[in-house]
Amino acid sequence: MLKIFQEVLNFILPPRCLKCGAVIGGTENGLCPDCFNEITFISEPYCKRCGRPFNGEGTQGMVCGDCMKKHKNPFRYSRSAFVYDEYSKTLILSFKFHDKTENAVFLGKLLYKSGKDIFSSGADVLMPIPLHYSRLLKRKYNQSSLLAKEVSKMCGLPIDNTSVIRHKRTRPQVEFSGQARIKNVKGAFQVKNPLNVKGKRIVLIDDVMTTGSTLRECALVLLAAGAASVDTLTVARVL
Ligand SMILES: [Zn+2]
Ligand SMILES: [Zn+2]
Repeated sequence: MLKIFQEVLNFILPPRCLKCGAVIGGTENGLCPDCFNEITFISEPYCKRCGRPFNGEGTQGMVCGDCMKKHKNPFRYSRSAFVYDEYSKTLILSFKFHDKTENAVFLGKLLYKSGKDIFSSGADVLMPIPLHYSRLLKRKYNQSSLLAKEVSKMCGLPIDNTSVIRHKRTRPQVEFSGQARIKNVKGAFQVKNPLNVKGKRIVLIDDVMTTGSTLRECALVLLAAGAASVDTLTVARVL
């Protein structure tokens, strides 16, 4: 019955590619073959900690030179599904700003797949990066919360939407680069319920990791409140 219903629905509203809008056959992958091939998915081998692909300089399970030097990296593991570039940009931006909330299902599946190391190592809770309430009012939804909801359905971990808040209104990070980004988000987050955070292995969820300043600032606040570890899981990342 469900199958017939799905077929009728596909006839009236055929599934379309999330990126270019072309009608796609009964595939669950969300993108037409052309758009799918343009996306640079991050695959093994990559650094065990930061998730950066090795491009021939290392084998799976190794830690990259950067991570060996950087003792201050607050993240246990960082994982992303694909590279943020001119091809993947439209997919992310339409999801973030143009109400393409249905993309969350497809992107959530990718997130879950790229987070396999995190889930097998053990984690307690998913935390979407919060938006300041003024931005949430304007945008009407938090794209990271939608992603967390999809990932939660698959990994079974609960979502904590309330323990950390963004209490400082910041300028969008795209307006800054390097050090200015770090300064812009300094003091932006506050842990509301330290008891919910203490001893927890937290997975931060966001759409894009650019320099990582926002995720890092949030992680530092969580670790200061007693979190056992913080991982990051983002759909895309700048390499
Ligand atoms: Zn397409
Ligand atoms: Zn690394």
